[in-house]
Amino acid sequence: MEATQAAPAKQLVQEKWNKRPLIIAGPCSAETEEQVTETAVRLQKTGKVDMMRAGIWKPRTRPGSFEGIGTKGLPWLQKAKQLTGIPVAVEVATAKQVQDALHFDVDVLWIGARTTVNPFSVQEVADALRGVDVPVLIKNPINPDLELWIGAVERVAKAGIKQIGLIHRGFSSYGNAQYRNAPMWHLAIEMKRRNPELMMINDPSHICGRRDILLEVAQEAIDLDYDGLIIESHIDPDKAWSDAKQQVTPERLAEMLDSIRWRKEDVPSAEYHAAMEKMRQQINHLDDELMQILSERMKVAEKIGLYKKQNNITILQTNRWNEILERATAKGDKLGLSKEFITKYFDAVHMESISHQNKVMNEE
Ligand code: PEP
Ligand code: MN
Repeated sequence: MEATQAAPAKQLVQEKWNKRPLIIAGPCSAETEEQVTETAVRLQKTGKVDMMRAGIWKPRTRPGSFEGIGTKGLPWLQKAKQLTGIPVAVEVATAKQVQDALHFDVDVLWIGARTTVNPFSVQEVADALRGVDVPVLIKNPINPDLELWIGAVERVAKAGIKQIGLIHRGFSSYGNAQYRNAPMWHLAIEMKRRNPELMMINDPSHICGRRDILLEVAQEAIDLDYDGLIIESHIDPDKAWSDAKQQVTPERLAEMLDSIRWRKEDVPSAEYHAAMEKMRQQINHLDDELMQILSERMKVAEKIGLYKKQNNITILQTNRWNEILERATAKGDKLGLSKEFITKYFDAVHMESISHQNKVMNEE
């Protein structure tokens, strides 16, 4: 099935796609025609929403909960778009879903986290997209595996899709009480570093799983220079058929967006650039010194290794290691360094130290 959209509609989608910050909002799921229409109208009233999202097919972890209204909800979205002029985005996981969505003029498609993990499914969606000109957003896979995320991007790109964006929705982590899906910001940052040409938007709703901390996560994303946000919004959140705890009304969404401190990546001020340059040089200098000192530390470790070898002593001495850690976390605390950081840092130093000692001990 080919795309039949009129040129002006395509152009509007294009403008929105390039807008920064890009704000996508809408219900987790389309439920009824009235709900879809009212959501669209109330989102439009805020004047802050660029695209409306709505789940039509819902991949649920376990059967029995609401699995989406299905294809019959697509005309509702089409009408809501005609009414408000807001382009719509839908999640697709199969070739049939791609065809149905395109048939009803869905403007942007997204691949969900449960699909990104499965190369067969991603390939099926990618094949269905061959020859179609539609923007596609790709959510990170459920598990913290960048290769899978990159693989999905490659499959969709190879199918000829030119406009690809990324959605960071966090990673499943067992027993993490704070978040539904741990953000693991470093992974998204690394994904951005490897794919600087792709837009990256943040999905605080699925990271948080609860509405009370949405704003902090959204702010953090904006502080990290994300290109936009996708936030679930429902006309009556507590009665939502899926993801009730994390949704907010369109009006609350508008308040949230108003209270975010929007930051820019750069300013055209010579004074600012000079001051930044100076501080960055300081950082570089300090980093060089740190590495110099680390290298000296490893040399001492090698000496110890040699000495242990001569005396036939094991490399690892648990008591000594506990002593180092305790000393370091206490000192780190006084210096304003978190226990978490100190532990990670000393673990890394310790592993490197062991590997140096190992080398020395096993050398002839
Ligand atoms: C959704 O966006 O409603 C959804 C199912 O999200 P995810 O794929 O991130 O779990
Ligand atoms: Mn959802």
